[in-house]
Amino acid sequence: MYTDIAVIGGGASGLAAAAGAKSENPDLSVTIIEKLDRVGKKLLATGNGRCNLSSRNLVPEHYHGSVRNIMDIINSAATAEEFFMTMGVPLISDNQGRMYPRSESAASVLSALRLRLSELGIAEECGFELKNIRKSGDGFVLGSADDRTLKCRRVIAAAGGYAAPQFGTDGSVIRIFRDMGYKISKLCPAVAPLRAEPDRLRGLKGVRVKGSVSAVSGGKILKTEYGEIQFTENSLSGICVFNLARFFKDHEGALTLRLDLAADMDKAELLRYLEMVKLQRAELPVQELLTGLFARNPAVYLVKNILNVPILEKISKLCREDLINLADRIKKLEFTVAGCSSWNVAQVTAGGIHGSCVDKELQSVRDKGLFFCGEILDVDGDCGGYNLQWAWSSGLWAGKNCARSI
Ligand SMILES: Cc1cc2nc3c(=O)[nH]c(=O)nc-3n(C[C@H](O)[C@H](O)[C@H](O)COP(=O)(O)OP(=O)(O)OC[C@H]3O[C@@H](n4cnc5c(N)ncnc54)[C@H](O)[C@@H]3O)c2cc1C
Repeated sequence: MYTDIAVIGGGASGLAAAAGAKSENPDLSVTIIEKLDRVGKKLLATGNGRCNLSSRNLVPEHYHGSVRNIMDIINSAATAEEFFMTMGVPLISDNQGRMYPRSESAASVLSALRLRLSELGIAEECGFELKNIRKSGDGFVLGSADDRTLKCRRVIAAAGGYAAPQFGTDGSVIRIFRDMGYKISKLCPAVAPLRAEPDRLRGLKGVRVKGSVSAVSGGKILKTEYGEIQFTENSLSGICVFNLARFFKDHEGALTLRLDLAADMDKAELLRYLEMVKLQRAELPVQELLTGLFARNPAVYLVKNILNVPILEKISKLCREDLINLADRIKKLEFTVAGCSSWNVAQVTAGGIHGSCVDKELQSVRDKGLFFCGEILDVDGDCGGYNLQWAWSSGLWAGKNCARSI
């Protein structure tokens, strides 16, 4: 088999790269190789099936990693609105700037992308699991797990990272590049829950509570997020926690999550509230002190775990120090991070092919003719459409530059 440009991986960035290359030079043949039986499987699961494909708030603070020109690449390519309108997919956004297809259907996005690819004459070679890459003359030979080969002049590696291996991304292509001598930055699940000791979480399973959560290491607050914090029997979850998961990479063993479960009140206000409730419910048991402020399970959890008083004792027995202590801890409830999540439940990979391995065009510094895009690179975005936007932008950028290099 021969093609001018081979794209490894039929995910978001690979589909965009193929479209970018073929649009730049329609005379070139472009083939996507994909190990699964069809392209775009992960895309179908994004945004809970609604595909949060970009954000109206594309600022550098939402991107992380060692690739130097992330924002230049995002700003140089077509906006998500322009890119998707070329495929007849209008976008809408919610009140937080998260952008979705008007259909709110990831399947419709994939269908429109595939229509565009077929219109452009891009070939799909599914069931081709890349096992090795060999240089040959001024091109490459890609070998598959079942001994097929594909000769090509250029390669765009768009095979994703380690997150969500159920969608084909098991890091195998990152390992191929590592074996070829590429520098790989430390890998870690991102946009993912964080594990805490199950003992500390007893009584909180299934609880959802609004508040702020900060990642703290060595006494320093690394980042604070606001939103709905969710508890499972062994982890803290929710978008606000997802956005802190990447800190595990550099703070393993020293990371704490600090929750403020009354972020809408200052401490004095919270204390006044507790004093008022103490008077109102003087004869009731301590377990009713926080009834009305929190749902049942977190209300009982907090008094049980913070106060040194039996929960069936009368509220009138609490002293001012008890209330101060309770207010303090409601605003500063800490959970030591016991570990990161498994790759299966992570949405994104932090780390990957190090930025020093590619030039501004996303071409390999050492192997000319080889380009990279998407999550395989050491770039990760926050939850909220930033990762798919990186996939589209870097894919279009690498595709265009790759076609121009021929
Ligand atoms: C459940 C879930 C929900 C998400 N929701 C959102 C969201 O709403 N918004 C957002 O911005 N981001 C979201 N993400 C993240 C986003 O999907 C990814 O960042 C993005 O898909 C990365 O695109 P990519 O093309 O780089 O890699 P991928 O989309 O992972 O595609 C890589 C492709 O390469 C193929 N491949 C891997 N190895 C080989 C091999 N050896 N040979 C051939 N092919 C191979 C894989 O099968 C896969 O099809 C979500 C992720 C998950 C898991």
